[in-house]
Amino acid sequence: MVKRKLKDTFADKGPGDGMSNPPIHDFKDEEKREFRKCLVAWFKENQRDLPWRKHLTNPDIDQRAYAVWVSEIMLQQTQVATVIDYYKRWMKKWPTLQDLAKASLEEVNEMWAGLGYYSRGRRLLEGAQKVVKEFSGKMPRTAETLLKHLPGVGRYTAGAIASIAYGQTTGIVDGNVIRVLCRMRVIGANSTSQPVQNKLWSLADEIVDPDQPGDFNQGMMELGATVCTPKSPNCDLCPVQNLCLAKSMVDKNKLRNGNKLGVISRTSVPDIECAADQCELCLPENEAWDEKEGVQNYPRKSGKKAARVERTSVCVLCKKSETEELQYYLVQRSQKGLLAGLWEFPSVKMEEDDENSHHTVHEILQKSCGLLVPPSTQSMVVGEVEHIFSHIHQTYIVQSLVVSESEIDSSNIHTENGRWVTREEFSSAAVSTAMKKVLKALETSSSGKKKKKPTDTDKNQKSITSFFTKK
Ligand code: SF4
Repeated sequence: MVKRKLKDTFADKGPGDGMSNPPIHDFKDEEKREFRKCLVAWFKENQRDLPWRKHLTNPDIDQRAYAVWVSEIMLQQTQVATVIDYYKRWMKKWPTLQDLAKASLEEVNEMWAGLGYYSRGRRLLEGAQKVVKEFSGKMPRTAETLLKHLPGVGRYTAGAIASIAYGQTTGIVDGNVIRVLCRMRVIGANSTSQPVQNKLWSLADEIVDPDQPGDFNQGMMELGATVCTPKSPNCDLCPVQNLCLAKSMVDKNKLRNGNKLGVISRTSVPDIECAADQCELCLPENEAWDEKEGVQNYPRKSGKKAARVERTSVCVLCKKSETEELQYYLVQRSQKGLLAGLWEFPSVKMEEDDENSHHTVHEILQKSCGLLVPPSTQSMVVGEVEHIFSHIHQTYIVQSLVVSESEIDSSNIHTENGRWVTREEFSSAAVSTAMKKVLKALETSSSGKKKKKPTDTDKNQKSITSFFTKK
C-alpha cells in the first residue's frame, strides 16, 4: 500500500484550471449554483420510489410533516430496505398524527419489534401526543421549533422535516451528507470532531438550494446512499463530479502515474492545497493519503469504541396445554433503559467472572421474576445465541424448561409483569430481535437440527425433543 503525507505534497491550485484560489474547504458562489442545479436535476431523474415520498404531494402540511417525521425516525440507524415494510404497516395503522396519539406504548412497541433502538418508537408516540395536546394537532412550523418541542427530534430530523415538508431553506447533515461533503471538500480530520461538525453544518446551510430545499436535501442523501457510497463510490455517475476535490485528486494522480496505482513519484502528487498552516479540517499531519483508497480517504473517523461483552442466562419457560399447544412465558422489561418496555424470556445477566458457567433454570426464574418451579422439573440446554446491540456484544446461554398445566397450578406460575403467549402471539408481541433468535434456536434444536456449542451440563440434562414428546 502506498501512503504519503497529504499536506507535504500539495501544490497550490484548486480543482479547475484558471480558478482563483478559494479555501479548499469552501464552495465559491458559482460552484454552489452549479452544485444545486446538477444535484436537483439528477435527483428528480434518479430518485428511488420510496413509500414516504408519495406523501409529499399531500396538500395537508401537517400530514406531510408527519410522514417525513416517521420515515426519518425509522431511518435513523436502520437500512432503507428494512424500513420500507415497517413504514407501510405503520402508516396503515396510524395514518395521521391523531391516530398515532391514541395508540398505546404496547402497540407501538409491537409495531416496532425487530427495528431496534426502541426508544425511537416511544418518542414518536410521545411527540404525537404532545402535538395533539399542546398544539391542537398542528406540527411546529420551523426547524428551530421542531427541535425545541418534539422529543427525539434532533437537529438533523428537524431540518429534514422543515426542508422536505415545509420548504424551509435549511441544511441537513447525516452520514450520507458527511461522506459527500468530506469528499467534495477534502475534509479529512475526524468527522465527529467539533470543528468538522461545525464546518459541515455551515456548508450544508450555505449550499442548500433556496428554491428547492427539500429536493436538494433529499438529493444529497440520495447521492450518498446510491452513488457516493462508503465502499464503492461510482464517481463516473456522479452529477457533481466536476466540483469534487477528492475525485480531482484521484484523476490527477492517475494522469501523472499513467494510470498505474502504486507508483511513487514526487511528480505524482495531487495539487490541492489548504492555505491554513494548521488546519483543523485537513487530514492530520501524521496521517497519510492512501493512493489505493482514492476518494475513500474521506471521511475519517476516530476509532470506534469496542462493544462491551456481556453474557446472559435465559430460560425459555414453556407450558404444554392438554391440546399439546405450547405457550411461552414472557416478562416485561423496565420502562427505562435498553429495550425499555419490551417483553423477553426470563433472564439473568451473568457476572464477568461467570464465563464458563451459567445459572440453572430454577435460579433464572427465581432471580428474574420470583417464580418457583418444583426442583424435580427438568430442563435442557439449548445452546448459545449471539446478538450485537449498538454497543453490547451479547451472548445468551439459552435453556428451556417445559412444565405441564398441573405443575403450573401447584407452583402458581404467574407474576405481575409476566404473561403466557402462544407461538402466534409471540410473533406479533413487542419482543426484540434477540429474543426471536432465542426462540428460533430452541425450535431448531427441538426439530432435531444442529445444536450450538453444547456444554458439559448437557450430558446430565434431558433433550428438548424428549421433553416435548413427554406425557
Ligand atoms: S465524485 Fe465521487 S467522491 Fe466526489 S461526490 Fe461524486 S461520488 Fe462522491
